Parts: sequence; C-alpha cells; structure tokens
Amino acid sequence: MPELSYRMLNIGSAPAGLLGLEELFAELFAQGVTPTDEKLADLLLAGVRKHNYVPKVAEKDYASALRMEYTRYYRRKQQGKAIVARDYGTWRGYPREQIPWFPTISEELCNNCGACLEICAREVYERDENGRVWVAEPFLCLVGCCFCKSVCEPKAILMPGQELLKNYPEKM
Ligand code: SF4
Ligand code: SF4
Repeated sequence: MPELSYRMLNIGSAPAGLLGLEELFAELFAQGVTPTDEKLADLLLAGVRKHNYVPKVAEKDYASALRMEYTRYYRRKQQGKAIVARDYGTWRGYPREQIPWFPTISEELCNNCGACLEICAREVYERDENGRVWVAEPFLCLVGCCFCKSVCEPKAILMPGQELLKNYPEKM
C-alpha cells in the first residue's frame, strides 16, 4: 500500500496531524464535488475518519477546517496551480507545524474589515468567496508575533500567550 500523505491542519485552535488528506481531496475533486456541495462536510469527515481519529465533540471544528482547506485546494486545481506540500521550516529546531502559535478569529466578533489581512506580511489570512476573513495558513505565522491582534478593533483575534514559547527551548 502506498504511503499516505501527512500534514498538519489548524482545527479549532490547535494543530492536528492528518493522514491521507491530499488523497481524499484529489478523490473528491475527481468526483466533481464542489466546495458548495451540501454533502461536502459529511464526505470530508467520512474520508478523514478512514485514517484518523475524529472525536465526536470536535466534529464541527473538523468539518469547518476541512471545508476551508478543500475550498483552497479546489480553487488552486481550477486555476491549474500545482498542489505541493508546503515546507513550513523549523523554529528553535522544532518543525514549525508542532508549535501552536497562530491567530484564531472569533466569528462572533469579527466584522471582516480586513485590517489583519492587510497588515500581515506572511499571507496567513485570506478572504473566502463570501468575503469572510479566515486563517488560511496558520503555520506561516511568525512565532512570537502579535501584530495583527493589535490592529483588530473588535478584538476578534486570539493569540497564544508568550509563556507558551517556554515549552520550546532551543534545541542543541
Ligand atoms: S482585523 Fe479583526 S475584525 Fe478585521 S477582519 Fe481581521 S479579525 Fe476580523
Ligand atoms: S501574528 Fe504576525 S505573522 Fe502572525 S498572522 Fe498576525 S501579523 Fe501575521
């Protein structure tokens, strides 16, 4: 059996490692499943569960993160762009994807003004087709930065506390 792809995704407000995501997306795209398909969330959850454990209580967060990610995948495929696994590098010797430092947006508070998107030089944020701002590339976020949080007037952006970084001492 060929080795499955592995990548981290920001689920809720924590990173989760998932097996077989690229294969699942490719399969759904080949079947003509679009991001607006009403069965998409169920198909994604069922597909991910083949190789990963998805806790019942986190289903909603998984469905939302997977739907966003599939939408990006779908757009790139439609534009004929290559789908390549991204290398997020390391921080203090740890794979960047193991460090849960990235913004989380409160949907209730966010007014989609776009200030965070404009100020972030790392392309962490994107707007979806409905104009909603979301955290598209959490692992591009610069560890230790809180810049976007300071420009968000409704205080919709949550960032981890600096004390989190003490858990990641420099690796020799
Ligand atoms: S700056 Fe705040 S309110 Fe504006 S889009 Fe970003 S998260 Fe939403
Ligand atoms: S914390 Fe800094 S790097 Fe991270 S998303 Fe905000 S502005 Fe971009």
